[in-house]
Amino acid sequence: GRNAFRFFDASMNENVVEHLHMASGLRTALAQEELQVHYQPQFDLRSGRIIGAEALLRWKHPVLGFIPPYKFIPVAERCGLINEVGAWVLHRACMDAQSWRAQGLGDLAVAVNVSPLQFHRDSIEREVAHALPACQLPANALELELTESLLVADAQHLSEVLQRLRALGVQIAIDDFGTGYSNLGYLQRFAVHRLKIDQSFVRKMCTSAHDEGIVRAIIEMAHCLGLQVVAEGVEDAAMLHRLQGFGCEFGQGFHWSPALPDDAFRAFVRKHSAA
Ligand code: C2E
Ligand code: MG
Ligand code: MG
Repeated sequence: GRNAFRFFDASMNENVVEHLHMASGLRTALAQEELQVHYQPQFDLRSGRIIGAEALLRWKHPVLGFIPPYKFIPVAERCGLINEVGAWVLHRACMDAQSWRAQGLGDLAVAVNVSPLQFHRDSIEREVAHALPACQLPANALELELTESLLVADAQHLSEVLQRLRALGVQIAIDDFGTGYSNLGYLQRFAVHRLKIDQSFVRKMCTSAHDEGIVRAIIEMAHCLGLQVVAEGVEDAAMLHRLQGFGCEFGQGFHWSPALPDDAFRAFVRKHSAA
């Protein structure tokens, strides 16, 4: 079709079958509460305090077990379920963040990953405007994580949506920074607050001068533009010390903790503050 051809191979069939299975499974998952949001703590690298958490979606399938997000998010995007899934995650994350604050865990913020498709027909804007008052969460306690790919599509429209979200008080971060098409002019125009350095650079930082250079350059560039930096994938003390030396403000990673179910996250915060 479409003036092109492809040779058939068995894996194409398997992919289609897997996709169909997953798409129908996801519909049930939403209805039957098989989806969960886990929270990975984020740290202020100077004070060592927890500033909040990134919300990461988990699907516990009754038969297939745990399915990682890199497998089912693209399916949700292709089969038109991503708006529903995204709205569910946003609402859950805002509810949990409000309850951390109500329980005295501190003025913690929550960062929610947003698919570029949620920007179509302004769906994200409506969902945010609904979720914040419904959960009684202050807008500055919510951060939206966008991918760089979003910044190249329909710039005028996106810039308007982001300005309106920013006017509400919501924070905006660019996720996996450095892996995509980084149009630096857009960072200013789009009212971004923070850059998240992709973990592939952070992980190799201590063994490759090249990757160390990239990390350092991203941090310095961000600071020149008045943006803060979050390093993701911080796995050990050596990486942490290097990032602190470069003036990186925030970090998250297995050095401290993986993403945890909500109750375990609360326990982690309590233990950390006590220490
Ligand atoms: P991301 O937003 O860049 O999230 C970071 C990923 O790195 C998470 O994988 C996290 O568990 C993992 N990670 C955290 N610290 C470390 C570390 O120290 N070392 C290593 N090796 N990995 C670490 P996860 O949870 O599997 O999520 C994968 C991706 O799926 C996310 O990448 C995000 O793009 C997407 N995703 C997750 N939840 C959602 C969601 O609610 N909505 C959308 N649209 N996408 C989501
Ligand atoms: Mg993220
Ligand atoms: Mg990332």
